[in-house]
Amino acid sequence: MGSILIKNVFLNNGRTDIYIDNGIITKIGACPDDGADTVIEASGLGAIPGFVNMHTHAAMTLMRGVEEDLPLEAWLKKIWTLEENIDEETIYWGTRLACLEMIRSGTTAFNDLYWMPETAVRAVADSGMRSWSAYVCMDHGDMPKAALDRKGLERAFEDSSRWGRKTVFTVGCHSVYEVSEDMLVWCRDFAKANGLKLHIHLSETRTEVENCIRRHGLSPVKYLDSLGMLGPDTIAAHTLWLDAEDIRLLGENRVNVVHNINSNLKIASGYRFLYNELKDAGANVTLGTDGCASSNNLDMLEAMKTAALVQKAWREDPKAMPLKEVMDMATANGAKALGLNAGTIECGREADLLLVDMRCPAFVPDINFLSNLVYSAHSDVVDTVICGGDILMRGRVVEGEQEVLDAASEAGRKLLSKSGMKLI
Ligand SMILES: [Zn+2]
Repeated sequence: MGSILIKNVFLNNGRTDIYIDNGIITKIGACPDDGADTVIEASGLGAIPGFVNMHTHAAMTLMRGVEEDLPLEAWLKKIWTLEENIDEETIYWGTRLACLEMIRSGTTAFNDLYWMPETAVRAVADSGMRSWSAYVCMDHGDMPKAALDRKGLERAFEDSSRWGRKTVFTVGCHSVYEVSEDMLVWCRDFAKANGLKLHIHLSETRTEVENCIRRHGLSPVKYLDSLGMLGPDTIAAHTLWLDAEDIRLLGENRVNVVHNINSNLKIASGYRFLYNELKDAGANVTLGTDGCASSNNLDMLEAMKTAALVQKAWREDPKAMPLKEVMDMATANGAKALGLNAGTIECGREADLLLVDMRCPAFVPDINFLSNLVYSAHSDVVDTVICGGDILMRGRVVEGEQEVLDAASEAGRKLLSKSGMKLI
């Protein structure tokens, strides 16, 4: 890891140097050239924090484009057919492909909810990124399956003490409609007893809310609250269909909610994400892409732009979701949700940061850096990615990229053929 000196970089409206020592930002300001193991001349580059993708299913990169133009429930059926055939190879190379894509688009940390986390974290470690990786419980109310999930989760948690320094275990519950009440309560207790984050899909579709009310007499948010599952360690993906009481509960309990705009738009689950209401109530609002089977890419800059534009459009209010806030959602708020000492570029923080290339049309004229970044640029402006002091990409070159592309392509082909589907 050693030390890195970034010279003459654009940061907070001026040029400066950033010194990184053993993965931590130790100085921001003029630094002498001598002594650093790596010196990056960054006079055409701007520094921003690495993006934190707060909800994804990384290995689903291999299902990119497999089924399009279907509603959520029908789409899930197709995906679950494919998932019957996933194996370690699918998970490893699917996750490596996801990490490659995330690195190339500036993500340094992600919150993953997918099968075989012990295999996925090997891929994350081999990529140099950070992940919070869940063991996912999904018992469908089936008692033997619930027992298997409990055993599997306990075993995976035990193994997680041997995971790399950048991967953290979390408790995953698919959703209130796929997980029995007993299992939800067990997950709540396990997460609490071990100080773990709990990751769940919540109030994603109108159908989910209607069914939950029919089954339990409560909306999904109120149902989770009745089970004592809302709190600052809960990460709730989507939270799209909410009433005033749901918003109050998510806010009062300081829940971390994840807006996944591109997935919501594409599956047509809705678009009226109640950003102002959730933020004002006290929820920590973060941003994610969801998996590639629904959002097709893992591009956080694209998610930021879409989230801001859609929010302004449906509210008929150009002031909705301002630039600084959409940037915080993609960086600082995500880091806060995960308990990660990053998300801003400050001394004492983990060195999770990006250098973006300002020598391109999107940054000319240089009037408003953040506006150029979010509204004008695409993620190919990300030139250099540093995660915990490790340089994962420099000059848009990621080491071993071709091997990942070739192996992932082969793993995707095998998965489709085992599932009786054809590659076009
Ligand atoms: Zn999801």
